This record gives sequence, structure tokens and C-alpha cells, in this order.
Amino acid sequence: MIELWKNLFFVRKCLLCGEILTESKEGVFCPKCRLEYEKLKRRPCRACGKPQSACGCMPDKLKHEIAWAVHLFAYDDPFSKTVIFTLKRRDFKPLQVFLGEELASHIGDVAEYEITFAPRKPKSVREYGFDQAEALARVISDEKNVPLADIFTHARRSELQKNLNAEARAENAEKSYALQRSFTREREKLIIVDDVMTTGSTMAKLVSLAKEAGYKEIATVCVARTVHEKETR
Ligand SMILES: [Zn+2]
Ligand SMILES: [Zn+2]
Repeated sequence: MIELWKNLFFVRKCLLCGEILTESKEGVFCPKCRLEYEKLKRRPCRACGKPQSACGCMPDKLKHEIAWAVHLFAYDDPFSKTVIFTLKRRDFKPLQVFLGEELASHIGDVAEYEITFAPRKPKSVREYGFDQAEALARVISDEKNVPLADIFTHARRSELQKNLNAEARAENAEKSYALQRSFTREREKLIIVDDVMTTGSTMAKLVSLAKEAGYKEIATVCVARTVHEKETR
């Protein structure tokens, strides 16, 4: 009940600028921020020139590993950073639903796929009480009617770190993922959801684990990402 009241209270304000929302009780942005958001999606990609939300560029390290990639906007200006910051910090259903539905509308026919997510670090889940990538994957799973699979976990660091030097340890801390022991693959195609992709290292690690698990075709979906000029489709 408290949660419900909190949400009712929050949806009356623009998520980004705090302006009181008078027109739509369901919206997450005020008209001005909504316009800003649409501009962000339309901004041309620096690599391919298409609008961000239609570009499909992917990091070089993933290019030969995945079938396709979708993101909504670039992660490089204050507005995009505020959206992502809010998504990470606040377990706010209207924003998760808004972005999840946005992503779903940019994905084609995925009837043969399963969907999963890059799991949040256990420490952050304890701190914030939720996993934003899981929340997004759940919305997309509902929208596209594809099963949600809980595939990845964070490997126990002690096991991974034992025999590594300092540099490898630092690298490893970022990529301490493993396959869930109890999971069974049901399909051959998989969508992996994350909130932000920067270098693509996390995604590359998850993709290689998914291949180990027998997935033949893998796609990535994230809200925002950094696109570098020399990348290509
Ligand atoms: Zn606003
Ligand atoms: Zn592009």
C-alpha cells in the first residue's frame, strides 16, 4: 500500500526535471523532457549516420559474435546520463515499463527467442533492492511474448581470483559472470538485455557463456550505449 502511494505521488512529477505533470498521470517525462528524449533517439549515430534508435551498430569485439543489436540512445550527454542514473538508482516501475516498451517496439519478430539479462552485482542488488536489467527484460518478455530465462550469475570472486595477478584480478572483477547451475536451455536463440553498454566487455563475456550453454544465435538489447566513430554495422 505504501508502495502504491509512493508511485502515485511520483508519477505526478517529471522524472527528470521534477515538473508537476498535469496532462498525463501515466507519463514519466514532462512534455519538454519528452521532446528532449525524442531528440536523443533521433540524433545521428557517429559511425553510421542513422538515428541512434535505428542504427544497430555494435562494438568490434561483438560484431562477429551477435546476430543484431538494439539501443535507444547514446550514453554521452547529461540528459542520457540522468535517465540511466535514475534507472539504476530508483526502483521506479513507470520508467522501467516506459523504457522496456520502447525497446520492445524497436525489436522485430523474436518468436523463436528466449530473453535474459546481465545480472546486477549482488552488492548493488543489496544496496538498491532491485535489478534494473531484469526489470527491463521482464517488460520486454511480456510485450514480445518470449520466455524470460534466468541464465547468468555472478561467479564467486574467491574462486576466480585465487591464481591471478593484480592486473588480471582487476579485469576479472568486471567480468565475474558464470552460468547458473540450475538453468536449462529451451531454445536456440537468445536476447541479452543490459541497461548500458560502454566497451562491450561485459556483453562479450555473457555472449561467450551463452554460446557455451548452446545458444546458436544471440542478440543484445540495451537502453543506451557509447558508439565509436569507427564502428560499423
Ligand atoms: Zn521534465
Ligand atoms: Zn550506428
